[in-house]
Amino acid sequence: MAQQERVVYLNGRIVPESQAGIPIRDAGFIYGDAVFDAARTFNGQVFRMREHIDRLYDSCKYLRLDPGMSRERMVELTTEVVERNVPLLGPNEDYWVTQRVTRGVEATSPGEESHNTVLIECRPLPLAKRAHYYRTGIPLLTPSVPRIPPRFMSPRAKTHNYLNLVLGDLEVHDSDPDAWALLLDESGNLAEGRGSNVFIVKDGVVSTPRLQMVLAGITRQTVLDLAASLKIPAEERDIDLFDAYTADEVFLTSTSLCICPVPSVNGMAPGDGKVPGPVTERLMGAFSDLVGMDYVSQYLAHLR
Ligand code: PLP
Repeated sequence: MAQQERVVYLNGRIVPESQAGIPIRDAGFIYGDAVFDAARTFNGQVFRMREHIDRLYDSCKYLRLDPGMSRERMVELTTEVVERNVPLLGPNEDYWVTQRVTRGVEATSPGEESHNTVLIECRPLPLAKRAHYYRTGIPLLTPSVPRIPPRFMSPRAKTHNYLNLVLGDLEVHDSDPDAWALLLDESGNLAEGRGSNVFIVKDGVVSTPRLQMVLAGITRQTVLDLAASLKIPAEERDIDLFDAYTADEVFLTSTSLCICPVPSVNGMAPGDGKVPGPVTERLMGAFSDLVGMDYVSQYLAHLR
C-alpha cells in the first residue's frame, strides 16, 4: 500500500510523523539547547545539501554538540527521508528539509546516560502564504530590538534560540502584519531577518552585510557566486540605513524565498519603487536557471 503519511528520522529510526515524539524535558525544548538547519527541494531534489550539512556541523561544534554520526551518514539519512516523502507532495509543491540536533534529556543521577536527540523531517514550503510577495515584494521594517551581538552569541550558528528575531517580527507585525523585520546590529548597520539575509544594489554594485554579523546564508553565498558569474560587482560590508534608504534596489535571500525583492525599508522605496529592479531581476533569473526551475512561477501558481 502506498505510504499515507510523511516519515521522519528520529534517534535511529524512520517512523511516521504522527508517531515521532520528543520528551517533555528535552534540552532543545526547555533551554533552546539545540541547533538546526533547513534546506529545500526543487522538483523533489535537495539543493546544496552538503553545504547545509556542513553548516549544521559547524553549529553543532559551536554548541559542543555531537550529532553522533558522520556528515555522509546525515546526508544519506536526509536523502532517504526526502525520497520517501516526495510522493506525498502536491502539484507544484516542494519541501523544507530540516535536521535538528538537541542535547536531549539531561541525566539526573550517577550512571545515567544522556543522548542527543537527532531529528530529520520535511514539510511543504509555505508557497501559498508567501506567493503575493512575488507580486508586491516584502516590505521591511527595522524594529527597536537589535540582532544579538556576536560576542554574546554568534549569529553564524543556527540555534534553537530565535527569540531575538521573533521579538523583532512581533514588534514589526504590530504596525504592519505583512511586513518582515530587518534587525540592525549593535552599531545600527543592517543585519538580518528571521530566516533571511539582506542585499542592496547601488550604482550596479551588490552589497550584503559582513559574515561576522549574520548567518552564513547558503542562498546569500549562491547569490554572491551568481553575481561573480554574471560579472556584477559584489561586496560584503557594513550597510547602514542611509545606504538602504538611498539604494537603487533591495532584496532578501533565503532557502525558502530564494531571492525576493523588497519594495520599501521603513516606508522608503528604493530606486523608482518598481520591483524587482533590473539587477535583482537578473539574479532571480540566474537563480531559477541554476536550480532548474522557475521558482517565481512556482510561488505564483499558489496565488489565491
Ligand atoms: N539568517 C537567518 C537568521 C536564518 O535563519 C536564515 C535561514 O536559514 C538565513 C539568514 C538565510 O539562510 P539560508 O539562505 O541558508 O536559508
